[in-house]
Amino acid sequence: MSGSFYVDDFSKQFGGFKREYSESEFVLFGVPFDSTSSFRPGSRFGPAAIRETSANIETWSWRTGMDFEEVRLHDLGDLAVVHGDTAETIRRVKETVEDIVMSRKIPVMLGGEHIITLGALRGIRDTTVVSFDAHFDMRDEYLTNKLSHACVMRRALEELGVGNVVIVGARASYKDEIEFVKRNGINYASSQQIIRAGTKEVGAWLKEILANSNKVYITVDMDVLDPAYAPGVGNPEPEGVSTSNLLDILEEIVDDRVVGFDVVETAPVYDNGTTALTASKIIYELCCMVAKSIRF
Ligand code: MN
Ligand code: MN
Repeated sequence: MSGSFYVDDFSKQFGGFKREYSESEFVLFGVPFDSTSSFRPGSRFGPAAIRETSANIETWSWRTGMDFEEVRLHDLGDLAVVHGDTAETIRRVKETVEDIVMSRKIPVMLGGEHIITLGALRGIRDTTVVSFDAHFDMRDEYLTNKLSHACVMRRALEELGVGNVVIVGARASYKDEIEFVKRNGINYASSQQIIRAGTKEVGAWLKEILANSNKVYITVDMDVLDPAYAPGVGNPEPEGVSTSNLLDILEEIVDDRVVGFDVVETAPVYDNGTTALTASKIIYELCCMVAKSIRF
C-alpha cells in the first residue's frame, strides 16, 4: 500500500507542524481537566479544539511583525489527567512545568479549567501572576472544595504573597470576596475601568505594579472576554473586554520576564468554534510577543 497519500494528522499539533523538543523555546501541553466546573463543564475538550483551530488559521502576527512559524514551539500533547482527582492533576502539571523550566524553555498550557494554573505556579515558583479573568477566583472554598477553579487565585495568593497576584478584567464577584480583595489591598482592574480608561492607561498601571518582579506568569481565563467574543466558557459574564483590548494590554506588559503562560476555560461545546479560535489567536500572539522580547 502506498503511503504517499498519508500524512501525520496535523490538526493534532498546535500550529499544525512539529518541532523537536531540543530545538524549542516554548513547550506547549494540554490539560483536559474540568472536574470542579460548577456551571457549565466541557473545558476538558478545550485543548483538542484549540489545536485543531490553530492548525487552520494564518500565522502572520500583525502586532509583532513576525510569523508564528518562526516561533520554536514543541507540542508535548495532553497531560494524562485523573478525572475527579484535582490534587493529583495539579501535581502532574507542577512536575511537567518544572521539567520544562529546568530545560530553560517556556511552558504554554492549554486548559482545561482554571485550577490547573496552581500547578503551573508551583512548578515555576516565586513569580508574579497576572490573571486576566472576569472573576477574582479568590474564594477560600467553593462547594466545600479548596481546590476549585473559583479558588485558584486565593491559593496563589497564599503561596506567592498579596503583592504578587494581579487580576485584570474583573466584573463578577460576591460581597465577601470583594471585601476580601479590598481588605487585603489586592491589585485589580475591572473590565469597566479598562473600557473607560483605555488599555494604554491600564497597561501603564500594570507595568508599574510589575516593576519589581523578576518573573511574570500570565494566565488568561477566556471568560475575561465579553461573551460576544468568547461564548464557549464555563462561566460567561457580560460586560467583558474585547479580544483587541486584551491583546493591547498584553502588548503593553509582555517583556523578557514572562516565564510562562496559559489559556484556560475554553469549553467548545457552547459555541460554533469562536472561543477556540480566539484562544488560538491569543496563544499565537503571546508566543510572538514573548519570542520577540527574549530574542531582541
Ligand atoms: Mn478563572
Ligand atoms: Mn473566570
